[in-house]
Amino acid sequence: MKILIADAFDASLPKRLAAFGEVFEDMGRLGEADVLLVRSKTKVTREVVDGAPKLKLVIRGGVGTDNIDKEACKAKGIEVRNTPQASSVAVAELAMALMLAIPNRLVESHNSMKEGKWLKKELKRTELFEKTLGLLGIGLIGTEVAKRARAFGMKVIAYDPFVLNHDFAQLKPSMDDVLKEADYLSIHTPLTDQTRGMLNKAAFAKMREGVIIINTSRGKVMVEEDLAEALRSGKVRAYGTDVWASDPPDPSSPLLSAPNVLMTPHIGASSKENLLRIGDIVVEILEKRK
Ligand code: NAD
Repeated sequence: MKILIADAFDASLPKRLAAFGEVFEDMGRLGEADVLLVRSKTKVTREVVDGAPKLKLVIRGGVGTDNIDKEACKAKGIEVRNTPQASSVAVAELAMALMLAIPNRLVESHNSMKEGKWLKKELKRTELFEKTLGLLGIGLIGTEVAKRARAFGMKVIAYDPFVLNHDFAQLKPSMDDVLKEADYLSIHTPLTDQTRGMLNKAAFAKMREGVIIINTSRGKVMVEEDLAEALRSGKVRAYGTDVWASDPPDPSSPLLSAPNVLMTPHIGASSKENLLRIGDIVVEILEKRK
C-alpha cells in the first residue's frame, strides 16, 4: 500500500503508518497513491481524483469533508473517511478561548502594555457569568462548548433542527429564538446549503445590540460584508473567528479591516493532543482494511 500524506499531521504519523506500506509526502507522487491523507489545506477536487488512478481511500483528518469532491470520489469507487469524533475538545477549547479573550480585553491589554501604556482605567472588562450563550448547532463540538459555558455560569440555549433533547442546553424551536436572546452566539453547524450565508443582514437585525459572535465552524456561514457593517455600527460588539471564507482569507476580506475582530488562522483542530487522536483513528481505519 502506498500512502500519501498531503497535509500537516502529527510528526509521528509517517513512522506509525510505515507498518502499512510506503509513506510519502510529495504531492508530485499522487499518481502512485492508494491512500491519500488530507486535513483542510489540500482540496480533493475532481482534477486531483483524476490524477490519482490507483486511489482507493481518502482520509480527511478532521470533521467536515467539504474540501473533498465526494461525487468525484464516488464515481471512481474511492472511499472517503473522516475523523469526526477526534476534534470536539480541541475546537471547543478554542471557542471558549475566543469567548474569554474578547470580554477580558486580552489582546488590547497585551498590545497596550507592549507599547508602554497602562490602561487600567480605560480597559473595562465584562463577565461571562449569567450571560446567555446561544449555540447554533449542538452536535459534538457544540455540546463540549455548552458544558464549559455552564461551568462559567452562563445560561445556554441552542437551535439544532436535528437534536430533540439535550442535557446541557435549553433547545429553542427556531434560529430566530436564539438570535434574539443571545448575548454571545457561537456557531457549530456544518457548512450546508441551509447554513451557507445564514448569518446575514436580516439575521444581525434580529440579534441583541452588542452581541458577541464566535465562529469556529466555517467562514462561509457568514455574509462577510454584512458582518463588517454590523461591527462598524456596533450592532455586533465583536467577532472572534477561527474560520474564513477561504484559507487564508483573501486580503480584500472586509473582516480583516473591520473593528473588533479577534482572529486565528484555522487552528481549531490543531492541538498537539488532537493531532495524536486523529493519527490513532487513521491507524484504526487502515488496520480494519488490512
Ligand atoms: P456535528 O455533526 O457533531 O454537529 C453539527 C450539528 O449542527 C449537528 O447536530 C446538526 O444537526 C447541526 N445542524 C445542521 N444544520 C443546522 C442548521 N441549519 N442549524 C442549526 N444546527 C444545524 O459536528 P461537530 O463535530 O460539532 O462540528 C461542527 C462543525 O465545526 C463542522 O461541521 C466543521 O464545519 C467545524 N469544525 C471546525 C474546526 C476548526 O478547525 N475550526 C474543526 C472541526 C470542525
